Amino acid sequence: MDKISIIVPAYNEEEVLPIFDYEVTKVLKSMEVDYEIIYVDDGSHDGTLSILKVFAEKDSDHKKYISFSRNFGKESAMFAGFVNCSGDYAAVMDADMQDPPALLPEMYEKLKGGDYDCAATRRYTRKGEPPVRSFLAHRFYHLINKISDANMVDGARDFRLMRREMVDAVIAMDEYNRFSKGIFGWVGFRTLWIPYENVERAAGRSKWSLWELFKYALDGIVNFSQTPLHMVSSLGIFMTLFSFVMIIVIIIRQLVFHNSVAGWTSMVCVMLLIGGIQILCLGIMGQYISKIYMESKNRPHYIANESNIKDIKKIR
Ligand code: UDP
Ligand code: MG
Repeated sequence: MDKISIIVPAYNEEEVLPIFDYEVTKVLKSMEVDYEIIYVDDGSHDGTLSILKVFAEKDSDHKKYISFSRNFGKESAMFAGFVNCSGDYAAVMDADMQDPPALLPEMYEKLKGGDYDCAATRRYTRKGEPPVRSFLAHRFYHLINKISDANMVDGARDFRLMRREMVDAVIAMDEYNRFSKGIFGWVGFRTLWIPYENVERAAGRSKWSLWELFKYALDGIVNFSQTPLHMVSSLGIFMTLFSFVMIIVIIIRQLVFHNSVAGWTSMVCVMLLIGGIQILCLGIMGQYISKIYMESKNRPHYIANESNIKDIKKIR
């Protein structure tokens, strides 16, 4: 019998976890598969961990938990789940019921057919989301698909059922700066997209502010595209050539017309513009250098301080 691993990152989710656990277990039991649910408590401050311990006490064969020593972020939580899951298939699901468990049987059937390695979900609406957020998200996907070779689908969720081969490929990408939407696209494999209508959070509230989403988008660009660096280089070349032309023009003007004092206002404007562009370019370089810096430190992705999984695995 096939085994399915469900990985659930949870950060302050005490309100929704009981509903989630009930619903997902119900679906999995109806599926004639062996299963495990790995809850990753991402340094929650509320009763999340104690709820997870109760689940594990009642059904330790199927309910696992890993508790982090602090909040490491959803990306680290997903990675911990992938590294420690033992299923033939694995899926990530949000604890807030935004990923409908009812889709699981269909996803599993499609993979069992053998035509696909991964069944992924995509929201075709963003109903219930602030319009500014939807607009910015659409712009982000439009941009990233132009400048990166990791194909990222607009509205794609992290909720996807993957074959073991794909899970191993994702684990093999053990970079510290993780951007899973890019990683899933980068590893390739035959992916089936299952669209569904957006579901709002069952309880509790979203952990993402607009600013955090902006930083996340920037991470996605820097991690999966070198286009900003190419743009900076091209800009530098263009400006150097342009200044050579200007120098020649100015020398000729001085020799022919003798009126070099005029025009200092425009001079200041040009200096300000160039200064601004230089700082922007340095900033872009800095983004990449900071990523190199974090990778070179080789820090662990997460620190687990409690779990009911025997000898919990780590990549570094
Ligand atoms: N999450 C996490 N660590 C974090 C932030 C979020 O593990 O630092 C989990 C959270 O508990 C939930 C999932 O990631 O299961 C998605 O978070 P959320 O619903 O807040 O994001 P949204 O759906 O609003 O994008
Ligand atoms: Mg959510």
